[in-house]
Amino acid sequence: MLIIGSHVSFNKENQLLGSLDEALSYGANTFMFYTGAPQNTKRYEIDDNITKKALLKMKENNIEINNIIVHAPYIVNLANNKEEEKYNFSINFLKQEVKRCDSIGIKYMVLHPGSHVGLGVDIAIKNIVNGLNIILKDSETMILLETMAGKGTEVGSSFQEIKSIIDGVENKEKIGVCLDTCHINDAGYDLNKFDDVINEFDKIIGLNYLKCIHVNDSKNERGSHKDRHENIGYGTIGFNNLLNVIYHEQLDGIPKILETPYINDKAPYKEEIEMIKIRKFNDNLKKMN
Ligand code: FE
Ligand code: FE
Ligand code: ZN
Repeated sequence: MLIIGSHVSFNKENQLLGSLDEALSYGANTFMFYTGAPQNTKRYEIDDNITKKALLKMKENNIEINNIIVHAPYIVNLANNKEEEKYNFSINFLKQEVKRCDSIGIKYMVLHPGSHVGLGVDIAIKNIVNGLNIILKDSETMILLETMAGKGTEVGSSFQEIKSIIDGVENKEKIGVCLDTCHINDAGYDLNKFDDVINEFDKIIGLNYLKCIHVNDSKNERGSHKDRHENIGYGTIGFNNLLNVIYHEQLDGIPKILETPYINDKAPYKEEIEMIKIRKFNDNLKKMN
């Protein structure tokens, strides 16, 4: 079954219910949200009444809570322990974030592994593993390590690095992977040969760890290490290659999330989800207003 949705907003007043309504307006059957602004760590209390209402409405609309994804803010960095205080803050923040997910009943939280900022990959991986083992100690929610583009000193731009992190995590049942198509393209993987990519993933990490796909086109060439997302079919990966990922039989039932850029300040997700469902490229998308 195709599980498709996009990034949606999450605000203080309407919380999960607001996110759900936004997703429904796009014709989605899943969604992903940040529990606050992605670039800061200010967070609101989760209102259990709103959560209850949202869960009921999800049921009415055949949306599975297990397919809903939370994305951790991207400023926390588990890879760098140069400043102990900052490193501990990241760990504590993520502990609370996982608790927030637990209280909503969210199964998956996507996390960028982090940037080593000069420490080197090996030390970074040790730091990430140490942090994850603390965070996952009494967590219900599973953390999904996102495959990264390799911008700057990002860790996790190869399946091997992701695998090394997983190897160090004690609670294997609480660790998984989120594959981002723009990121793997920019990291050097060839989406023209997606079967090879999937096979390599399976050989190195194991497909059983793959729990979420971020579906994005890329503004840049393969191997560019840039990480700039493009609308579906408008980038260097192309519509057919992305459809191939979305409808790949080995990835059936895995939530697919769009994180493509807004067009003229408007979310493109309704139109993009539509073109994915009918499998036909819409070359008018960029002209929408
Ligand atoms: Fe991400
Ligand atoms: Fe992503
Ligand atoms: Zn990205």
